[in-house]
Amino acid sequence: MRLSEPRLLIDINHVAVLGGIEERGGALRIGALARHSEVGASPLVARLAPLVHQAIPHIAHPAIRNRGTFGGSLAHADPAAELPACAVALDAVLLLASRRGERKVAARDFFRGIYATALAPDEIVTAIEIPPAPAGGRSVFLELARRRGDYAIAGLAAAARPGDLRLVFFGVGDRPIEAKAATAALQREPAAGRVAAAQAALARDLDPPGDLQADGATKLHLARVLLGRAAAALAA
Ligand SMILES: Cc1cc2nc3c(=O)[nH]c(=O)nc-3n(C[C@H](O)[C@H](O)[C@H](O)COP(=O)(O)OP(=O)(O)OC[C@H]3O[C@@H](n4cnc5c(N)ncnc54)[C@H](O)[C@@H]3O)c2cc1C
Repeated sequence: MRLSEPRLLIDINHVAVLGGIEERGGALRIGALARHSEVGASPLVARLAPLVHQAIPHIAHPAIRNRGTFGGSLAHADPAAELPACAVALDAVLLLASRRGERKVAARDFFRGIYATALAPDEIVTAIEIPPAPAGGRSVFLELARRRGDYAIAGLAAAARPGDLRLVFFGVGDRPIEAKAATAALQREPAAGRVAAAQAALARDLDPPGDLQADGATKLHLARVLLGRAAAALAA
């Protein structure tokens, strides 16, 4: 996209330590170089992070999924991308490294705006850690796109654990957005009016800018549709 014009380009593809998918102390560790297709086919991911497993087929097409990496998607920080929203919904932590050492940044603090992250210029993402899915946890991943494989017009990564619900929307702001007002309404209101109240409250969480695909009002409407579907799926 010519957004950056580096004088030096370093290919990290052959740095083996940046790859792999493994379970460590109950948590799921996905190496930055793990390809989307590898993540989607991993039984470990399906078991420990079913939300991510559900999200992968929505990322473009097999040719892209065979090349695109988990770390690359997070570092790129496209606000309409699927994996950043999953990372926030799952309370994931990114492992960053530079010659100065290593540090961990929570996904909810990592995304700063359109293509903007907490990465310093000399840092790379080495891996992402996802805490174990708790017993009784549920997840729902939904997306509305013009055609299968396109970037989302609006999307929702929802993770429910006993006593905790995360609704993270994407494609409707400059980064993944946790819908706290809508979540509170879902948890507070009596069952009969719960979904309608949450859909109304969503206007306090989201103020989507228009883009090439839809204007802001349409995106908010679509986000409300997704919220209704997710609430029904989580209650089923
Ligand atoms: C036609 C097309 C359709 C696509 N559709 C979708 C889609 O529907 N949904 C979606 O989510 N994505 C989509 N993508 C993006 C794709 O899935 C990749 O995630 C994205 O292109 C990043 O690719 P990459 O991992 O090869 O990283 P690169 O392209 O190599 O890098 C992207 C940026 O991140 C930086 N970077 C990469 N890895 C690291 C790291 N480990 N640490 C620090 N910085 C790093 C690079 O310096 C660069 O600035 C699409 C891409 C294409 C080309």
